[in-house]
Amino acid sequence: MNPWHLFTVMTPPDTHKRQSLKPEDPLAEFDSGQELRSERFGDIYASTLDPIGESEHVFLNGNQLQKRWREAPETPGHFYIGELGFGTGLNFLLTWKLWAETEDKNPGWRGLHYAGFEAFPLSAGPMEAIHKNWLRQTGPDFEALQPYAKRLLNQWQCLLIGVHRLIHDKSVILDLHVDDANIALRQRAKHAPPMNAWFLDGFSPRRNPQLWQPELFSLLAEHSTPATTVATYTSAGHVRRNLSEAGFPVEKVRGWGQKRHMLVSKKKTDNQSGPQHPLKGPGERRKALVMGAGLAGCTVAHALAGRGWQVTIIDPAAGFGAGGSGIPQLALRLRLFNTASAAAQIYLQAYLFTHRWLIRLALEGKIDWHGTQITQSPTAMNKRKPLNAERLTRVYGTALFHAAKDGTLRFPLGGWVDPIKLCQALCSDPDISTRFNTAEPTFKAEQQGWRVQTNKEHLSESADALIIASPQALDKLSILNAAKLEFTTGISTAVSSSNETDKHRHIVTGSRSLFPVRENTQLISATYQRCRAAASDARAADQENLAAIAQMLQLSSNPPLRALNHYQRERANTSDRMPLIGRYPEPAPDSASNHPIFISSAHGSTGLATCPFAAELIAADICGETLPLTEEQRLLLDPNRFERRAQKKARAHPSENRKS
Ligand SMILES: Cc1cc2nc3c(=O)[nH]c(=O)nc-3n(C[C@H](O)[C@H](O)[C@H](O)COP(=O)(O)OP(=O)(O)OC[C@H]3O[C@@H](n4cnc5c(N)ncnc54)[C@H](O)[C@@H]3O)c2cc1C
Repeated sequence: MNPWHLFTVMTPPDTHKRQSLKPEDPLAEFDSGQELRSERFGDIYASTLDPIGESEHVFLNGNQLQKRWREAPETPGHFYIGELGFGTGLNFLLTWKLWAETEDKNPGWRGLHYAGFEAFPLSAGPMEAIHKNWLRQTGPDFEALQPYAKRLLNQWQCLLIGVHRLIHDKSVILDLHVDDANIALRQRAKHAPPMNAWFLDGFSPRRNPQLWQPELFSLLAEHSTPATTVATYTSAGHVRRNLSEAGFPVEKVRGWGQKRHMLVSKKKTDNQSGPQHPLKGPGERRKALVMGAGLAGCTVAHALAGRGWQVTIIDPAAGFGAGGSGIPQLALRLRLFNTASAAAQIYLQAYLFTHRWLIRLALEGKIDWHGTQITQSPTAMNKRKPLNAERLTRVYGTALFHAAKDGTLRFPLGGWVDPIKLCQALCSDPDISTRFNTAEPTFKAEQQGWRVQTNKEHLSESADALIIASPQALDKLSILNAAKLEFTTGISTAVSSSNETDKHRHIVTGSRSLFPVRENTQLISATYQRCRAAASDARAADQENLAAIAQMLQLSSNPPLRALNHYQRERANTSDRMPLIGRYPEPAPDSASNHPIFISSAHGSTGLATCPFAAELIAADICGETLPLTEEQRLLLDPNRFERRAQKKARAHPSENRKS
């Protein structure tokens, strides 16, 4: 390796020109002294003498965490910590454990939100090995951390460039930003809650100067308040100067072990403003109304109930599964892109988030997750072109799928769920109630919040937040036209399984998907017809499905597959094929107030992957928390994007507009 590489300040690449989402390898190896060392930076990951003692002294005590957690903020919110150089995760594990042990003494804070920034994530092997070393070395000290370390390691896979919400455990959230911190912090939303504390734990300033530059410290200051503290193990003069210039008044204090000094920046008391939209004062129960009992609605209700909200779901249908979420088997699949774009990152983050979420629900015994894997045949299409396995491997690397020579892709994390059972399980939470058969529901903004009324039952419910999670319920908003919402009909056909089809243990997908056997039948999904369900011919669709699967799997026609049943449902897509996720500030026409509406809709053909992710984004937004998204990604999902684009176009071409 060119030695100069280690000491050159690299310019962060422009994200739009990224060739790949695969982060670079830290080249981590154990040396002869059993220290984990990054060959890329020529530095070790942690102190060999007493890593736990050093981490506690420098970062936890240096930021006075325990003391500050006991001092309640003015308004309740999360305590935000940002760490530059997540490395082995030791600082996070210690902070998580301290929080869990002292949580009942920190009643002023809603939770702990930890954002780790890491451009070169370790792979699971060396991470686990160093944890084992520490266990041998420190005995009971690391033993107490083991339960936390195991849970972190369980989530430590497929860490491609992007934001990954790895842990969401009651009141503790870990977002891992896999990227150069200079880029990731520039992409953090300006209005995201500021950090309360920073841990500066990159490799030494001499080895990795990029993490200690004035520009980066200015970014830290942008995401801080006057009460934010900073701690770092180094006392290098230029780090001290750069921090001071960025507005952090630094102090040299006693370091750990052989290090005489370290730096801390202590500020005043915490005056963090808490949630940006505190919809009610502390202690009061908050209420939300959700329109639509499909996957979008049930997942958002579940995410809000998990944050202490009371939720009512309203749906004109007779029960769960009236829409696309009524197909008996939905596959968890990754929408693939040929370029390493922000859109590709969104679908990747959603897919991984949902996989972790489904596994957690399954481990809690709430749902059945069928992790059968997915095999995608080379006949599968992307934007009407065959998938190019080589190109996809350049974009995604090899962690998410294995590409065979003939172009077949196998997705180890793929699988399926029964969405009706999933919705039922989510809504069994005592804080969620469902109102079905609610004909013609209408919603109206009032001074205090939202009111939904229906004619038939004379139902009238009011709430602090309204979430529209049904493409059909969007018809009251101008977004329907702006987004050019398109409904397509899909028909899935249940067939009797045969010797030739039931041998497939994976979901096999190409021009159609064939699911593994369930209750002696197999499902073929699905047609894609550019018409509403009422206008589609279900019997013809069954024949198309049978013929397509016979061709795809080269089945003999003896005995022929027999259609037993079909499921005819609609999907909704926007004109840019991205879902609508976020707040929509258009006030209702007769509104006396200006409460935003939140939308989770237009999930197209990948709703199983995107609905749980959208739910997390919306619940976090409503509660004033940080979203696991970059600002660029948020704008791609923002329901206001179409109106914004139209306005921009009108400004750029005023004459065209006058003519029309
Ligand atoms: C045939 C087919 C196969 C598919 N296969 C897959 C797959 O394998 N994997 C995958 O990820 N995705 C798949 N999809 C897409 C997936 O089904 C959708 O993305 C997902 O179900 C969307 O969920 P939703 O909650 O947004 O909408 P829906 O499930 O359609 O739910 C909308 C709900 O809104 C209700 N509603 C209607 N009007 C109103 C109103 N005025 N007020 C309140 N509520 C109202 C409806 O009754 C319905 O319950 C498939 C879709 C189809 C059609």
